[in-house]
Amino acid sequence: MHGREGAVLRSAADPSTMLVLQKYGGSSVADLEHIRACARRCVDVARTGAGLVVVVSAMKGETNRLIALANELVAPDSSAAGRGPYVAASKRSPELDRELDQLVATGEKVSASLLAMAIVDQGVPAVSLVGHQLGMRTDRSFTKAKITEVQTARIGQELESGRVVVCAGFQGIDPAGDITTLGRGGSDTSAVALAAALRADVCEILTDVEGVYTTDPRVVPRARKIDRLSYDEMLELASLGAKVLQIRSVAFAKKYGVRVHVRSSMSDAPGTWIVPEQEVDMEAIEVSGVALQRDEAKVTLVGVPDVPGIIARVFGSLGEAGIPVDMIIQNASRDGRTDITFTVADSDLTRAVEMLRQLELGGEPATVETDAKICKISIVGLGMRSHAEVAARAFEILARERINVSMVSNSEIRMSIVVAERYGELALRALHEGFGLDTP
Ligand code: ADP
Ligand code: ASP
Ligand code: MG
Repeated sequence: MHGREGAVLRSAADPSTMLVLQKYGGSSVADLEHIRACARRCVDVARTGAGLVVVVSAMKGETNRLIALANELVAPDSSAAGRGPYVAASKRSPELDRELDQLVATGEKVSASLLAMAIVDQGVPAVSLVGHQLGMRTDRSFTKAKITEVQTARIGQELESGRVVVCAGFQGIDPAGDITTLGRGGSDTSAVALAAALRADVCEILTDVEGVYTTDPRVVPRARKIDRLSYDEMLELASLGAKVLQIRSVAFAKKYGVRVHVRSSMSDAPGTWIVPEQEVDMEAIEVSGVALQRDEAKVTLVGVPDVPGIIARVFGSLGEAGIPVDMIIQNASRDGRTDITFTVADSDLTRAVEMLRQLELGGEPATVETDAKICKISIVGLGMRSHAEVAARAFEILARERINVSMVSNSEIRMSIVVAERYGELALRALHEGFGLDTP
């Protein structure tokens, strides 16, 4: 992505004026009362003399509703509604994906125009921009499009004429002029991309919690708000299901150095700053957050020949089928044979097993065992680089609760542990408390 016109815009406008970018999520524009409240917040910013660009999500539940309609039409037996792939995998096709994007992009068009109206109604000029008006250029991967360029000319013109610019999040335009969308939660990425291209002074993600918490506050009520997180820590937390920010928005922020402030749309309390690593006190904190992913399943290929090329074939076929694989463990080999265990998303399990059973590994069909009743707990923190004892402490905490560990994987700033699903929440709470995340 390159925001070619960003520099032009900033020098053409008075360089001393602030440019603020605010993104309001679905729960913040859930109904007209909420939309009026967001408008009041926008009006307050505009009246300080700052330029204001707003990105909005669809009204809460709307994207799910639209996806459910599509599912009911083409795949009534599926349970895919509201999940990652928009409709049942067996029904997907390029034609259908194009129509899905046409459909789901309408949600943000509605909220963008309603918010612009509410701002105008409160006496401040505003304009909404949707689809082709936005200048958000993407590739042609419908339902998960990548931003290729942000053309800011139109937004710049509107700002120069003193309007608040309300942009429909989540959507872009491909080279053929078709509407695309950026994946679930994609308005976060729209917001960060616009902040980068416009060189906004402030990038605020306004949502229904006061910031990023040490773990999901809906699961652990004693979770606390984190003041500052590095891009890498936030990337890990987001990929572990802290859906407060879409992963891609964090990758974008890191790449372009956008400092992101996640905060509540209902209060003025300071939230969480996502910033470059140098701005985080690494020595002070070893663990920043913990996360629980329930939708994991374990697959074991039993007794496969332990010869070069087998593991490449297994994961090559899974990759071709578009099935992401997470933790991988290969056991010590016995009599030239070994077991390979790995995890996939619950929703990919059936497909993965069907595919693996068709693979001939060393002349015989593979023996596949599965366990869907597992979950993954992860511990994230920059300090893990310098505190070698984190792993040992985590195992000790789990042992005290008599929770058995079945798989472990490590990255530089993250450790993930697979345990039985029924112990997931207990393990999460124990680790949260054990690493002192309950207390300031
Ligand atoms: P929006 O509608 O504003 O885009 P989302 O629903 O996408 O909001 O994200 C906010 C939600 O993310 C919160 O309501 C919270 O339940 C959930 N969440 C999960 N993990 C975390 C976490 N570590 N910190 C804060 N929120 C979290
Ligand atoms: N409305 C879209 C979704 O629900 C995009 C977003 O909210 O960021 O996924
Ligand atoms: Mg969101």
